[in-house]
Amino acid sequence: MLDSMNAQEMRRRKYLDALGVVLWELHHKPVAFLPDSGFPLIEETNFVRQSHQSDVKCMNWPDLENAVKTCIKCSLHTSRTQTVFGVGNRQAKWMFIGEAPGGEEDRQGEPFVGRAGQLLNAILFAIGLKREEVYIANVLKCRPPGNRDPQPEEVTQCEPYLLRQINLIKPRLIVALGRHAAHSLLKTEVPLGKLRGQRLSYHGTPLIVTYHPAYLLRNPADKRKVWDDLCLARSLVRDQ
Ligand code: URA
Repeated sequence: MLDSMNAQEMRRRKYLDALGVVLWELHHKPVAFLPDSGFPLIEETNFVRQSHQSDVKCMNWPDLENAVKTCIKCSLHTSRTQTVFGVGNRQAKWMFIGEAPGGEEDRQGEPFVGRAGQLLNAILFAIGLKREEVYIANVLKCRPPGNRDPQPEEVTQCEPYLLRQINLIKPRLIVALGRHAAHSLLKTEVPLGKLRGQRLSYHGTPLIVTYHPAYLLRNPADKRKVWDDLCLARSLVRDQ
């Protein structure tokens, strides 16, 4: 519905919001599917608070969290258990951005809590950082079914949330974790190996690219390269 929301409706919602009028919307979420067909069998219905998505750029933390929690801008809302907003220090110097929640993240509502997350914690420790000290988020706030690759349309719909998180945090540096995060943020198809080792930029915030911890679980020999990338990252954070 929000996909097709016209400018007039957005304006109406903005005015109502300014007047303190809360709008509610009925959401249908499939909770059981017909075997082998993918058709919803049982739907859970809930009233959720609407947010006028036009104003993500100006939102404070609570409004942004609510907008993400109630987001139905792409089809991923139908299959998620919950949204995965982001976690960590909202005044962090470092921000780590992955691709999208996986199964464990979808269950727990927190990014990087599965095996890849444990490795990320170890990487942070190695570079002298604690998980609570940095901010961790994903390009997508909802899990793509079966952990498939994010679709460009999903990235387009979700990116304003990430941008607002970055604008609120104002990190000194963003570390893009893996090919999908790097490509989604930088709008490029340049291979990850070529993007590494340089100071790039995302909407004015310095950004470096490194391998995804899940990739490192499969290719542990490349841990050395991640160490090099994070040494570069540390020097960029210190230089500012
Ligand atoms: N992989 C990601 O990119 N993000 C997560 O939160 C978990 C796994």
